[in-house]
Amino acid sequence: MSNIKTFYDLINFANSQNKKIFEICQENEAYEMETSIENIRNKVFDNINVMKSAINEGIKTNEKSLSELSGTDCYKMQANISKASLLFSNVMNKAIVYALACCEQNATMGKIVACPTAGACGIIPGAIISISEELKIDKEIQINALITAGEIGRIIACKMALAGACMGCQGECGVASGMASGAIVEMLGGSNEQIINACALTLKNIMGLTCDPVAGLVEVPCVKRNAFLTIHSFTGANLAMANIKSFIPLDEIIDAMKEVGNLMSVTLKESSQGGLSTTKTALAKQAQLEKIWKNN
Ligand code: SF4
Repeated sequence: MSNIKTFYDLINFANSQNKKIFEICQENEAYEMETSIENIRNKVFDNINVMKSAINEGIKTNEKSLSELSGTDCYKMQANISKASLLFSNVMNKAIVYALACCEQNATMGKIVACPTAGACGIIPGAIISISEELKIDKEIQINALITAGEIGRIIACKMALAGACMGCQGECGVASGMASGAIVEMLGGSNEQIINACALTLKNIMGLTCDPVAGLVEVPCVKRNAFLTIHSFTGANLAMANIKSFIPLDEIIDAMKEVGNLMSVTLKESSQGGLSTTKTALAKQAQLEKIWKNN
């Protein structure tokens, strides 16, 4: 089972065994780690609890990060969530709050789950925790969802590096959004094909996303980007649940993403030498921070 490196093989194997993706993954993990499936599931639930703690801490605090580039947006969003002026359903606004909460925790040295990276730590918790609360989804299904997300990330990582420095932000927040869309479909009771299709639809529509953080810090645009791409994962999941299919299969989309990442200029891959990071405002902030860092 551990030699499954494509979504085509994953679907064929899972369907031949009449199993869901999470079942194949947890069996494989238990085998590789020489432990029981129960232990694997307990570990996954530990991670869900870390996500919940990050959210709880994040929504409680209204402190700016050291750079003052982030830290107060979750609080503002939370304060406005019940106001009629906000669009979207409660679950979507909650997802935005939770994504911001995790990322602001990351920016202020709190404990988060890197999923798949620290910069993209808000998207999967934003989706899984908000939906499980609003739809009253039990612990076991939350675990199934996070395992599904993990398996999607594992297979993508077989082909390309999940790092902004290699692939741009499509390889971090983009991949997290694809993973989250699969997790949502699993929570909604979708099929293996719908899970893979949700990921395909989601990834196809973030291709080329650059990594251009202001002053090299994982704050601007990263924190708010997590909120945006959480909602992007909802769209992918809803389309897949309506049986709308991606014309391009997921494996080919990953190949194309990798090609796009390789073609992307190094100035747009976490080097802070282009894009948003070299705007007038970003450079002024960077100069201010460099002065502070020099004097400390
Ligand atoms: S912009 Fe770069 S640093 Fe920020 S989350 Fe995306 S990949 Fe990570």
